[in-house]
Amino acid sequence: MNAPESERSLNFVEQIVQGDQETNKWEGRVHTRFPPEPNGYLHIGHAKSICLNFGVAEKFGGSCNLRFDDTNPAKEEVEYVESIKEDIRWLGFDWQDREYFASDYFEQLYQWACQLIAADLAYVCELTPDEMRAHRGTLTEPGIASPYRDRPTAENQDLFARMRTGEFPTGSRTLRAKIDMASPNLNLRDPVMYRILHTEHHRTGTQWCIYPTYDFTHGQSDSIEKITHSICTLEFENHRPLYDWYCQSLQIYHPQQIEFARLNLTYTVLSKRRLLELVAQNHVSGWDDPRMPTLSGLRRRGFTANSIRQFCDTIGIAKATSTIDVGVLENCVREDLNKTASRVMAVQRPVKLVLIDYPEDQVEMLQAVNNPENPEAGSREVPLSRELYIERDDFHENPPGKFFRLKPGGEVRLRYAYIIRCEEVIKDDEGNILELHCTHDADSRSGMPGAGRRVKGTLHWVSANHCLQAEVRLYDRLFLKEDPSDVADGENYLDHLNPESLQTLSDCRIEPSLTQAQPGDRFQFERLGYYCVDRESQPDHLVLNRTVSLRDSWAKLQKSQRQGKKKAKPG
Ligand code: ATP
Ligand code: MG
Repeated sequence: MNAPESERSLNFVEQIVQGDQETNKWEGRVHTRFPPEPNGYLHIGHAKSICLNFGVAEKFGGSCNLRFDDTNPAKEEVEYVESIKEDIRWLGFDWQDREYFASDYFEQLYQWACQLIAADLAYVCELTPDEMRAHRGTLTEPGIASPYRDRPTAENQDLFARMRTGEFPTGSRTLRAKIDMASPNLNLRDPVMYRILHTEHHRTGTQWCIYPTYDFTHGQSDSIEKITHSICTLEFENHRPLYDWYCQSLQIYHPQQIEFARLNLTYTVLSKRRLLELVAQNHVSGWDDPRMPTLSGLRRRGFTANSIRQFCDTIGIAKATSTIDVGVLENCVREDLNKTASRVMAVQRPVKLVLIDYPEDQVEMLQAVNNPENPEAGSREVPLSRELYIERDDFHENPPGKFFRLKPGGEVRLRYAYIIRCEEVIKDDEGNILELHCTHDADSRSGMPGAGRRVKGTLHWVSANHCLQAEVRLYDRLFLKEDPSDVADGENYLDHLNPESLQTLSDCRIEPSLTQAQPGDRFQFERLGYYCVDRESQPDHLVLNRTVSLRDSWAKLQKSQRQGKKKAKPG
């Protein structure tokens, strides 16, 4: 078990913040921000960043802004803005009135660009993207200066103003910072600050046809918002000198950028470009498909916000990249739901079981415990009658050695009810099992003298005349390969999609206590796993998603495969 967060030692970002507090570097202020680009739905990797940014602010009595980094009009949509807000709220974080958009700063950014031009630190360049790439050099060779690099300031001022008014076509000119074409850091080889894009923006409409780049926007947005610690992922480490250069050259308030390792998960892709592709090409049903690693997908699958925050806490924050086993995430939701989910009995693949010695019109209401982990959850009544369903898998005609479930002539206990014995197997002409005919030991149920009699197996069941019919969707990993992004030449991550990642069981039977179940309600189906009522569920057509099975079947499988391999080795 993990110690509560407050008792754990500080992660390295928190240590930096604490050190700054001790030296009064920011006059005691702690101000972070979460800066999503609204070009897709948030995923579990973003949750790590959200928990870190909001968590640091909370821990040190500071605040955290939500800032949409909306500088690329071609890929951004209002739908994404709304989903991002919903997901952050769901996780349990509150940015209060501090909701900002980089696009609100377009005018200020333009003025700052003019300031750099006036200081001869920026110029209008007419190289095509290909030419620019060719001029850029490599890690071992310096770049070549653009022929436009030494334009007179007045000419730059004139051209940049005309870029803004829309005189030039898309992509025909850029504004570049004049830094150092020989810098060992490629990001400092005269990076682009502005590009021409005649595209409507989801907030500024047609007001602008030049858009600032991420690098020219991010640090200055942090500066405007008086951010103290600008926490981002490691791929921006090489951008930090540029972040610092803009703040210094503009002589503006200068936050500190700190990089941490992004989350990678096995069997999962966490790139928005790829997630968008999965949606657009219908490999999944949408951004909230329960197989997606998006927060909306995980929520629909049945994950709790608490389990995701617990996960982020468990994996911690480090400077070195690593990959987390997706089983860790599944364990977090298991642990959380174990404490909170009501237990119910449900049969996924039913076979009829008839208690031939039980009166035809009798119904007994049996007491069933709602959650053994939580006495306050109380109990409920479950009906028992002559005709029941049990799991097809729980009966075996010629069982292997240690099979403690039902077999011909064998005894098992029905959960909360009687010990039964299988007397006869009824089959159709093709040999398919139609019914199991059993007798019951009327003395063996709770409250009877024989209640203490023990048999090895206990099965879950539902009463055939009382149960609800339901559709249950079982999910498996979306990818078969541990690292779907690690693909050979000519291969694509899509080649590793798991064709069996969704299995729909349309004839499941569930105890009647779920009659009032609402979308989002979560349950433990005894012996099977955790399930959540889907948003498509209707009163007359119950639909549930399996969140996770009770135990980590993959870990077991991998372990047995490993052991199998070991045994197979000669000698
Ligand atoms: P992608 O690479 O999937 O396109 P992104 O980093 O471009 O993602 P943003 O919307 O820019 O997506 O991300 C917002 C914030 O979330 C950034 O600060 C980014 O560093 C952080 N973030 C994104 N992915 C992860 C991840 N896998 N782990 C931790 N933080 C992440
Ligand atoms: Mg980004």
